[in-house]
Amino acid sequence: MDLTGPPDANRALDGIPGPLWDQVSLARARLLMLDHDGTLAPFETDRARAVAPRSTRELLQRIAESGRTRLVVVSGRPVRDLAALLEPVRLTFVGEHGWEVSAPGERVVRHPLPRGVASRLERAARLARAAGLTAHLERKRSSIAVHTRGLDAEGAAHVTSGAALAWSPLLDRAPLRLVPFDGGLELRARGRDKGTAARELLAREPAGTLAVHVGDDTTDEDVFEALGETGFGVRVGGPGAPTRARAWLRNPDQVARFLETWLELTTRERRHGA
Ligand SMILES: [Mg+2]
Repeated sequence: MDLTGPPDANRALDGIPGPLWDQVSLARARLLMLDHDGTLAPFETDRARAVAPRSTRELLQRIAESGRTRLVVVSGRPVRDLAALLEPVRLTFVGEHGWEVSAPGERVVRHPLPRGVASRLERAARLARAAGLTAHLERKRSSIAVHTRGLDAEGAAHVTSGAALAWSPLLDRAPLRLVPFDGGLELRARGRDKGTAARELLAREPAGTLAVHVGDDTTDEDVFEALGETGFGVRVGGPGAPTRARAWLRNPDQVARFLETWLELTTRERRHGA
């Protein structure tokens, strides 16, 4: 058996223990899931400009085409945003925290929203606009968010507390929940999250598939939990954050190097012998 660990050039990825690389190398089938913002793409104040470097997109393309790994980007963004930001990479996208899925060559699957969600989100949008939050709003099919990236701490607190107050009448027994994330606050439909999507993706892979998820936010913890013993989570942002992930990477640059190593380990010929 060939237990080799990472190539020398990538030893600086000290958040990924050698035994995890061995699992990647030896797995018979692999599912690699990645978050987008803060993971593949560095954060930008203007969210439309949060684009992964070309070299990262090329790596994704090569991993997807290698036939050795099922590659999926799992994000809170709608799938149409993901497809545009990651152009021309063609792979499976899970958008809106699991409410929509788009696979290459297939129609986008949009899971039906629980009763009452659409009308409550409409009302949430009106309430947020009335509270003066229009510039920070993002309306999605399954949620509404206020974004605070680029604001100072006081400005950010003003926006998130304003939204929480405006939306408070919608939370009582409603099929909605408030979820803070790194860079804002989101009012989301209950019933699905990134973890739900990860379980469904894994169920479609062969038994014994190694599942790995790389993500930087609290919403990624749902996936880390879903993976259980079938794989491992990689939390982006360095060591120290409380997490269910078993490994970490500092930033999107390290994620790119992680992908490079992944491609190399999963596509090279196995050496046999002693
Ligand atoms: Mg993220």
